[in-house]
Amino acid sequence: MNLYETLLTALKTQGKRITPQREAICRLLAESDEHPTARQIYETLKAQFPSMSLATVYNTLDVLVSVGAINRLGSAGDDTVHYDADTNPHINLACIKCHRIIDLPSEHIQALQEEVARNSQYRILGGRVLYYGLCPECQREAVEGGR
Ligand SMILES: [Zn+2]
Repeated sequence: MNLYETLLTALKTQGKRITPQREAICRLLAESDEHPTARQIYETLKAQFPSMSLATVYNTLDVLVSVGAINRLGSAGDDTVHYDADTNPHINLACIKCHRIIDLPSEHIQALQEEVARNSQYRILGGRVLYYGLCPECQREAVEGGR
């Protein structure tokens, strides 16, 4: 099963009807590595689905989060919740200036999740390790702006 199918299946197991709008939301989540916010998803799909509401987007995201199919990331300094469809353990790096969030794979994170699962006996649905700072581009801008 690819990620898109996994997300659709997660909705079905929660008794959600698979509408073209929900399909589009899942496809966007599966194909994006941009960590979109609900509003970004809404704005992207609005042209295609004029009748879609922001509430539909939130509702769909909430269901996916509740079953661990996607992760809710904290804000990237923009007071907006970002979503991440990659639930494999990885580090998120948020830039507090341009509010981009990138992924950084790390074998330590995998080991950490296994340790947490072992020691807590939780069935881990997802996790989040978020670092924040200034990305290389914003550091360069800061230097150039300071001249
Ligand atoms: Zn930046």
